[in-house]
Amino acid sequence: MADRKWVMVVDADRCSGCEACVVACQAENNLPINEEPSFLQHRAFEWIHIERYWEGEFPNVKARFLPLMCQQCGNAPCEPVCPVYATYHNNEGLNVQVYNRCVGTRYCANNCPYQVRFFNWFEAVWPETLKNHLNPDVTVRSRGIMEKCTFCVQRIHRKSRLAKKEGRDLRDGEVSPSCVQACPTDALVFGDVTNKDSKVAKLVEDKRNFHLLEHLGTEPNVIYLKKVDPNARDASGH
Ligand code: SF4
Repeated sequence: MADRKWVMVVDADRCSGCEACVVACQAENNLPINEEPSFLQHRAFEWIHIERYWEGEFPNVKARFLPLMCQQCGNAPCEPVCPVYATYHNNEGLNVQVYNRCVGTRYCANNCPYQVRFFNWFEAVWPETLKNHLNPDVTVRSRGIMEKCTFCVQRIHRKSRLAKKEGRDLRDGEVSPSCVQACPTDALVFGDVTNKDSKVAKLVEDKRNFHLLEHLGTEPNVIYLKKVDPNARDASGH
């Protein structure tokens, strides 16, 4: 079977900034709870977060939202700087983090231009009532370990195993990271771009597409679609 290439498309025109994706990711991936002190110390864990921009002057101000997560770069600056190969590229286009190899140098985080890697300065703690709610499919990271968005690799593996058992290929839309599943506006779309009939393969051809920090040549596997400007005019003035 040909290698897959997992891609996420983020339609900035659809994102309402509700943060359902952020909450879903916290729950799915056993992220510690962020309380006020974690934000004040700039140590909050959010594998996906919503960048908020303001346009215009009061009272005509508009908020713009841009979900940001690990861009799963094809030419990832975090990979060559890891001395123990704890982060590497797999044959499905994912930038993988191997927790039990990580020795916590944090070189990868320093080299990530998107600033989407998180270091466990402390042992993660959950309130007693939440301990039984952790996802058994996701490793709980210990102190001294680097972590980041995995495109919910545990979900990819689960569905891949199921498809293999049933002797078929994965169907388009069968694998859905938690953020994609939770998004009420379908602003996030995920899939295998090598499947030319997939929704994601069609969306990456949209003329609104762009990469974040494209000039750095990181070749991200997250593709953004520009916000539609209702006042924009084409060359004919319409
Ligand atoms: S769930 Fe969807 S609409 Fe809500 S913030 Fe995330 S991407 Fe935007």
